Formats: sequence, structure tokens, C-alpha cells
Amino acid sequence: EAAQGTAVVHLTYLNADADDDSDSDAAVKSDSDADADVTAAERGPRSVEVYQPLMSAQTGTQIGILELYLPYAPIAHDIASGRRLVTIVLGSGLFLLWLCLLGVSVSVTRRLRRQAAENGFLASHDALTGMPNRTQFGDRAEAAIAVATVERPVAIALIDLDRFKEVNDTLVHDNVDKLLVSLAERLKLHVREGDTIARLGGDEFGVVLSRLHGPGETVEVLSRLRAVLAEPLLIDGLPLAVEASVGFALAPSDAADLGTLLQQADVAMYAAKNQHLGIAHYRADYDHFDASSLSLIAELGAAIAQDQLVLHYQPKADLEDGTVTAVEALVRWQHPIRGLLYPDSFVPAAEQTELIDELTRWVLRKATSTLGELDPSGTLAIAVNISARSLGRADFAQDVLQILHETGTDPRRVMLEITETALMADPARAAGTLHQLHQAGLRLSIDDFGAGQTSLGYLATLPITELKIDKAFVLAMHGDERNAAIVRSVIELGHSLGFTVTAEGVETVEALEQLSSYQCDTVQGYLLSRPVGSADLATRMVAARAILDANHWTPA
Ligand code: C2E
Ligand code: CA
Ligand code: CA
Repeated sequence: EAAQGTAVVHLTYLNADADDDSDSDAAVKSDSDADADVTAAERGPRSVEVYQPLMSAQTGTQIGILELYLPYAPIAHDIASGRRLVTIVLGSGLFLLWLCLLGVSVSVTRRLRRQAAENGFLASHDALTGMPNRTQFGDRAEAAIAVATVERPVAIALIDLDRFKEVNDTLVHDNVDKLLVSLAERLKLHVREGDTIARLGGDEFGVVLSRLHGPGETVEVLSRLRAVLAEPLLIDGLPLAVEASVGFALAPSDAADLGTLLQQADVAMYAAKNQHLGIAHYRADYDHFDASSLSLIAELGAAIAQDQLVLHYQPKADLEDGTVTAVEALVRWQHPIRGLLYPDSFVPAAEQTELIDELTRWVLRKATSTLGELDPSGTLAIAVNISARSLGRADFAQDVLQILHETGTDPRRVMLEITETALMADPARAAGTLHQLHQAGLRLSIDDFGAGQTSLGYLATLPITELKIDKAFVLAMHGDERNAAIVRSVIELGHSLGFTVTAEGVETVEALEQLSSYQCDTVQGYLLSRPVGSADLATRMVAARAILDANHWTPA
């Protein structure tokens, strides 16, 4: 019966005398006997045996045990469905857990792999520009040098930006980074397939050129890289132009090991910088150009005292009537061992020390005392460059006037060229000094205009005579709408503020024509004359005049 789903009851009395209901006892007993077989035969897994104590209502003691056989099927069914539920819940829980763990593990693995790749990349690349770094440059250079032959040489070149310190001082940090990134992008685009270009630090880039045919091809490739660097670029809306000096050495003809080749490229690069060569192939006699200007600076003080400095002069001519109205004095150092040094190789370093004040005074004294000899007619003006540091000195104006007094110079014949950057170093003090000098009769010019960040409001308050457009824009304006627009706008701006405008870096007749059409007032540049020593200046001024007259196309 239990097997068929009916409960079977089995009642056992512990003590039959304790109960006087013998009928029921007998009945129970007989039942119990009769059922024993049935349950024994049919119980098995199909029924459940349950025991329940029987208590006497009168005595409260246990008088027997009720043995129950419950049908197993509904319980089994309950258990089965319970187990199914548990299995489903547990299974899906475990599945979800597995999914989570899988997700975590995949993302961790991916992150680790990415990090490993990044670490690998950073170990061999420059973080800012993404270019190979010094380590990878070394590896690739070594590999290239190993297979270099005289017929197919390998060039190791160093590219260093000119006057980067000035740029660095003028721009905010982020913009310096932007500048370097833009320049790096250009270099990457223009390097030949299979060559390596790397950032070795700061503003220095290294190049490995392989499969070359000789120095000629090397110069060709490097010239292209130098030209793309020189194209003006906009940094935060400001136009900026950088030039670079490049030095290189060839394997195996100059040296067969990377260390020596790098040293030679470095020497050549400094020679290129100091001698305005642009690109220089290593030569043994360049070796006296050491990599630091420090030793030069140590010598500069004595050099000034011993009159080793010389001035070269470059004419500034009126574009309208062709007359040379002024000459700019440009300092050089006739070094007893190193030869003629250009200002880029010692002025920036001198500007870091008080030596620059001595240099400025020397130039001013020399220029003004030579003026009579340069121009007996007495109409020519002399332009002198003034560094930020000198301009920032409290007694600068007084110093200048003292020198003019000593040399007997009419202050109206002296023009001071001050770069935008110098003005912005301490605008309030600069304004005071400029007013003082202007009152004394000197003329004032803003040099390299367009490269700095002068506020126009500030500019309008200064007693300025002339704006000089940065030569980078003039050099780049031919066939380049953007640079032409900058030149044109600076001319218009200068005129509307009541200044005359000078364009420097005029190298071609095309530039001359273009500037004339923009109504530029004064021109200066290699086309008319390079800076020359005082002995050659008279001849150069006549020649400059002739060039302007020959190109005087505008009928008045
Ligand atoms: P700057 O004042 O902008 O001088 C113009 C520079 O451009 C000169 O270089 C000049 O030789 C060069 N230049 C002239 N015409 C052309 C041209 O047509 N094309 C090209 N590509 N360049 C041209 P330099 O003499 O080497 O002077 C370089 C800088 O050194 C000057 O730039 C000036 O900032 C500084 N400097 C020169 N002399 C002195 C000085 O006596 N005192 C101070 N403090 N700085 C000086
Ligand atoms: Ca100048
Ligand atoms: Ca200039």
C-alpha cells in the first residue's frame, strides 16, 4: 500500500499491560503482523519509514512507538524538483561566476599584454614623439654600419635646432612639446624608406641613412629634411619658424664604429652651426669646435678686452627710392684658433651671463665710433641689436646715452633693434627704458616681429619707429599663401600703428617685387648685400642701390 501511495501505520506498545484496550492492541498487533510482510516486500526505496513516540495521556510517559511508512513517490518528486532547482541555481551561479572570471582574466591578460607591449615600445621609443630613442637608434646604426661598404656607405647624422633655447624660453612648455611633435612628424614623413630617424633628446635628432652612393646623396637627403623643418608652422595660432644645423659622418670612410661616427657627426654639426653651413660633412679640422660653448664663454671676456670681436655691416635700403638709409651692425668673433665665429655660437651663451652687457657696450661703442668712417655724408643710421638681458638692466638707457656722448654720436642716427622676446621678458621695465631712449632721440625697432607673442595693445603704447618682419616669413612667402598673408598683414599692421616696416631675409628679386606690391618700406637681405666688413661696405652699398634701381619697375 505504501508503494501504492497510501500510508502504512505500524503501532508498537512498549508495555501491553499499561493499556486495557486489548481489542485495539490485538487489532494493532494483528495488523502489524499482517503488514510486516507487505512493507518488507514493498518498502525498499519506494516508502519512507517514520517513527513517532506514543505518550500516555494520563501518566505522561512514553508507552509506544508509532511506525509510519509514508509513500515515497511524492517525496521523491519533491526531492527531484528540489534537486533540479538547486542544480539550475547552482549551475547558473557557477556559470555566471565563470563568465565574470573569464571577463576579468581576459581583461587582465589584455592589459598585461598591452602594458608589456607599451613597456617594450617605451624602452625603444621616445615617449613624446613616438620616434625610436637613443637605444634603438644605436641598435639600428650598429646593424647598418656592420654592412656598410665604400661603394654603399652609411651616414650617421645629427640634426640640432638652431636657437632652440630662445624658442624654449618664449613658448609655454606644452607648446614646446607641440613644436617638437610637429617637427618629428615632418621628419618621419620625409625620411626615406629603410632609413632611421630618432629623437636623441631635447631638440636633437639622429639619422641613419643606408644604401647611399656617397656624400653628395647624403647632403641631398639631409637638405630635404632640413628644408621641411624650416617651413614655418602654427603653434596655437602663432607662426613659428625653426632652422636646424646638420652634421654627418660616413661609415666606413670616416670611421667604422658608431661611437667615433657619432662624435664626428657632433663635431660637424657644431661646425655647421658656428659657420652657418647648414649641413656639414665631418672634417678633421672641424675638431676644434667642441660641443659646448662653455669654454668659449670663458674666453669671451678676454676676447672683448683684446678687440677680437669685429663688426660686419648689412645695408637696409628704402624700397621706394633705392637709397641705403641704414646699416645693421652684426657682431662676429675673429677667434685666433677657431676662425671667424658667427653670433649664434657665442651670443646666446653670453646672454646667460653678465658678459652680454660688456658685449652690447662694445658693439655700440664700435658701431657709433665707426659711423663717421662708414658714412662721411652724415645721413646713414646705424642699427645695433640689443639683448633682453641688457634691456632689462635699470641703468641701460643711461649706459647707451653715455656711450653716444663719448663717441660724439647724434642719437637720431642710432636705431636699437630689440626682439619681441626681449620686450616681453619684462614689458613694464622695457616700456620705461624705451621711452627714455626715445626721448633722447634714438630710433627703436622691433626685431624678428611675428615670431614672438607681443600683445598689440602693449605694442601700440611703445615709442617704436620700425617693425622688422622675421626673416623666416620673408624667406618662405614665395608661393606660400599663408606666409605671404602674414608678411602682408604685418606690413598693414605696422603702417596702421604709424611704424615703418622692414623686411629682412630678402634673397630674391621675386621677394623684392612681392614686398613692393605689399608697400613694404625698407628691405634688407643677401640679394642687396651680405653683412660685410667696414672696408667693403661702401662698394656693397653702391651695388645694392644698383640692384634696387635695376628693379625699379613701379612707375611713380
Ligand atoms: P638678426 O638681428 O635677426 O640678424 C639678421 C641675421 O640674418 C644676420 O645673421 C644676418 O646675417 C642674417 N641675414 C641677413 N640677410 C639675410 C638673408 O637674406 N637671408 C638669410 N638667410 N639670412 C640673412 P647673423 O649676423 O648671424 O646674426 C644672427 C643673430 O645674432 C642676429 O639676428 C642677432 O639676433 C644676433 N646678433 C648679431 N649681432 C649681435 C650683436 O651685436 N648683439 C646682440 N645682442 N645680438 C647680435
Ligand atoms: Ca637685427
Ligand atoms: Ca631679425
